Amino acid sequence: MKFEKYLKNIVKPLLKLVFPVKCYGCNIFGYYVCPNCAQRILRYKNKRCPFCLCASQVGRLCYRCQKKYFLKQVMILTYYDQALIQKLIQAMKYSSVYLIARDLAQVLYLNFKTYLTTNKLAFIPVPAHKKKITNRGFNQAVLLARHLSRITKLPVNEELLLKIKNTQAQMQLKNKEKRKNNQANAFVVNKQNIKKFKNLEIVLIDDVLTTGSTLIECAKVLNQAGFQNITAIVLARQTL
Ligand SMILES: [Zn+2]
Ligand SMILES: [Zn+2]
Repeated sequence: MKFEKYLKNIVKPLLKLVFPVKCYGCNIFGYYVCPNCAQRILRYKNKRCPFCLCASQVGRLCYRCQKKYFLKQVMILTYYDQALIQKLIQAMKYSSVYLIARDLAQVLYLNFKTYLTTNKLAFIPVPAHKKKITNRGFNQAVLLARHLSRITKLPVNEELLLKIKNTQAQMQLKNKEKRKNNQANAFVVNKQNIKKFKNLEIVLIDDVLTTGSTLIECAKVLNQAGFQNITAIVLARQTL
């Protein structure tokens, strides 16, 4: 048998059996996104307040926005228009390749390691409505938060924050006012879970950030429940 044929007919199927996973960037086996491709993902310039865009550091909100939104910091990995991250997020969400969350959580960890290893935190995934979870089978923010918790050994809680209103996807709404109203009163804090997390910094986890109104609503109800230190980590920012 010719070498190419041998490679194509025997070696590749065998490799697929052992490592059925391939990198979405370079096709190497064993990863959904390999360390090389992960390193090449264009990093978001976290040098401005994520809401009013005035100068700031590592996604810190400026003083005025902190007061207004009850959020201290939003750390964003990359831009949603980057082809590789978009492919990964879409495959994870819409094709149910949920193990992608494992690799993406690893990328988030490596990128925000300094912050994640020096603070007393708890991961809180941005919740999805029950109906959405029934349709999709899972909430990708929960998967990311669970993997981050496994990597860092920091706690995660999926019941502190609940979504009680089935809103439309923010990305589908073009009108600014509609987007704002869409998320209003969509979240509540589960009072039974407050005590355990009272003294920890809350890190909201989500996949895509558009205007930020989802995070703002989450932070608002958490603040009303008595949480002072609220930050967020997201994979990508989508500009509208
Ligand atoms: Zn790769
Ligand atoms: Zn600001």
